[in-house]
Parts: sequence; C-alpha cells; structure tokens
Amino acid sequence: MFCRREAQAFSPVFFDGGLCKPAYGIIPPIMNTQIPHLYNLSLTEIEQLLAGWGQPAFRARQVYRQVYTKLASTPATMTDLPLPLREQLAAETRIATLELVRLQTADQGQTRKALFRIPGGEVVESVLMVYPDRATVCVSTQAGCAMGCVFCATGRLGLLRNLSAGEIVEQVMWAARELETLRAEAEAGQSAAPAVQHLTNVVFMGMGEPFANYDRWWQAVERLHDPQGLNMGARSLTVSTVGQVSGIRRLAREALPINLAISLHAPDDALRSEMMPINQRYPIADLLAATQDYIDATHRRVSFEYVLLQGKNDSPEQAAALGALLKGMLCHVNLIPWNPVPGAPLGRSERARVLRFQQVLQGARHCLHRARGARRGNCGSLRPAGGCAA
Ligand code: SF4
Repeated sequence: MFCRREAQAFSPVFFDGGLCKPAYGIIPPIMNTQIPHLYNLSLTEIEQLLAGWGQPAFRARQVYRQVYTKLASTPATMTDLPLPLREQLAAETRIATLELVRLQTADQGQTRKALFRIPGGEVVESVLMVYPDRATVCVSTQAGCAMGCVFCATGRLGLLRNLSAGEIVEQVMWAARELETLRAEAEAGQSAAPAVQHLTNVVFMGMGEPFANYDRWWQAVERLHDPQGLNMGARSLTVSTVGQVSGIRRLAREALPINLAISLHAPDDALRSEMMPINQRYPIADLLAATQDYIDATHRRVSFEYVLLQGKNDSPEQAAALGALLKGMLCHVNLIPWNPVPGAPLGRSERARVLRFQQVLQGARHCLHRARGARRGNCGSLRPAGGCAA
C-alpha cells in the first residue's frame, strides 16, 4: 500500500535524513484486551458502559468529548469529570493501547513517523505530514499483510494480525495530538508553526490491506466521521486498496462516500500478476469493471497508484498502454517513486524515465507524485521490515 493521494499526492516518508528522537510517553504494552478500549466504543456504547456504573448519559457525552475534542489520552486530564469517575475510567478502561517505540521527524518537524507496538507485540507505523494547507495522517489497518506484493517490505511479513477499530482510530488521535505538540514546539521556537489548526485528512494507506479487515476498518471510518467525535468529512478520508474487487463493490454500497485509491502498478495482467499476486484472483478487467461500477454508483473520481520501477513498468509503451486502459474513466493517476526495499531485485526509475512516462501517459488524467525532498516514498519503505505498499 502506498501512502499517496491524488493531486495532494501523499506518501509515507523515507526517513533517510530525519532526526531520530527517543520515544516519549512510552506506556507499557497492555495485554489485557478484555478491558474496554474507549476508541473501540461508539458514544452509545460508552453510554451503556457508564450506565452500568450508575452514571447518567451526559457523563458519557463528556467522556466522548474529552476523548475526541479535547484529545485526552488519560482520564486524569478530564477535569470536568468527578474524580471518582476519572478513577473508575482509569481502572476499568483504556484510552492509549499503542506503545510508541520510536518517533522520527523530518522536514523541520512537519513530518512525523511513529512506530507503535500494539498489544500482542507486533509493530505498525503511522505518518503525520503537515503541509501549508492541510495535515494528513497515514494509518495502518493491519500488522503485516497477506497480499505479498513483490515491491513491498510489509508483504514479506505475511499477515500478523488485523488491527481493531480502536487501534486504527488511536493512530489518528496520535496524529491529532502530535499536531498540538508541533504547535507547542513552534511556540517554543523549536519548529515551524503548522498553518493548519486541525487534522484535515486521514488516508488508510499504511501497513495492510484495509478491505481485508473491512468490518473493523469501516467501524474506524464511522468513528472518525461521527459529528459528535472527530467529525471528519467523507472527502477527508481516503482508502487505498491493492485491488480487492469485493471490497470495492462493498464500498460502493456504503452511505458514506469516502475517497478511493487503487494500486495498479502495471498496465497488463502478466506484469501485474508478477508484481501483485492479488491480480491472479482479480485480473485487471475485473478490477476496472468494479471500479467503473463504483464510479457509476458514486459519481466519485478514483485515483490509480502507479509505482515506477526502472525497466519493469516504466517504458513509454507501458505508459501508452496505461493511458489506453484508463481512457474515458473518471480517474487520475499518481505516479510514485519507489523507495528501495532491501534485497528486492528492483530499482527506482530514473528521473528522465519518469518524465518520459509522464509525457506519454495520455488518456488518463495524471499527476506526478509530489515528493517532499527525497524522503517521500511508498509505505513499503516505512520501516526496516515492513510498511504498507499497495
Ligand atoms: S503493497 Fe500493500 S497490499 Fe501489497 S503487500 Fe504491501 S501492504 Fe500489502
């Protein structure tokens, strides 16, 4: 999975020159998954939980507001709640379940990549990118991934486990708090001030295939969209899929029209199957038919992601084939530079080949993935042994 996004092209960050900070705010791994994770619960479920404690419904709304509006990470800071309730929340629920193992920054602090250990011991990554007009976080939906794309470090791990909705939401809340940290650092003269006040975009392009964890992922989407919570609009949410046709068709039926990005990476089945095993199950014709049905149903423009690999999929002929393939479709194409994965027998396309490919690509609206210096790349470069890449 590539962290990337249409004209606001976006990708996870290759921290080849970033400042590596020691982790802060480390919490011990929480292994007791029976304790309710507040990010896993809807407002109604929190009301039910607190009703069981003899609390009125308005207390649940206070808790919900504290968690999503005040960005509270611990009951201790919920000072509008009575102390006994804060103590009960601290004893019988969890807000933070992700252990921050490492935080790296780049771009004068405007890009921040977190490595989290999740309950059970696996690790996932999230990246916050702050731009002049927006702040976007890329989050993971699975630890590892079963899709096995050859250019992706995460694919080598296999699927370790699905993330819960709460674990997905928690990554977003980390980013929202990190934005506050950035603002505080700017006030202290330690970094540039972020131009945006709030998190504006969430892209599900981190580790894992979201549609392979559909129910939990969609629960997270609904939580992020909840007007009483973070209140993120559908247009602020983007899911990226390796091309799982069943998921695309299911997404087309959802009431909430979030953005859809599809990893294509090759203009023909032979090459795509070689690069992405999913193509054997869902060949390009099926994928494009489902995509067109999605467009017809939603009237939404989709994004196609195309990572450029030297001598593999970056010839002018392949550009022409790609253009012909997508001709007439309501879409655009993001061309993405590949961040090398150690040991992968692949290479990043040279600049001249990228420009030639871009020039030849006709029939599909396209944009060149906008990299932030040399540090942007695909999610497969997110961490030494993993990252998301389709
Ligand atoms: S590119 Fe995405 S879908 Fe493919 S193996 Fe990597 S994480 Fe999975």
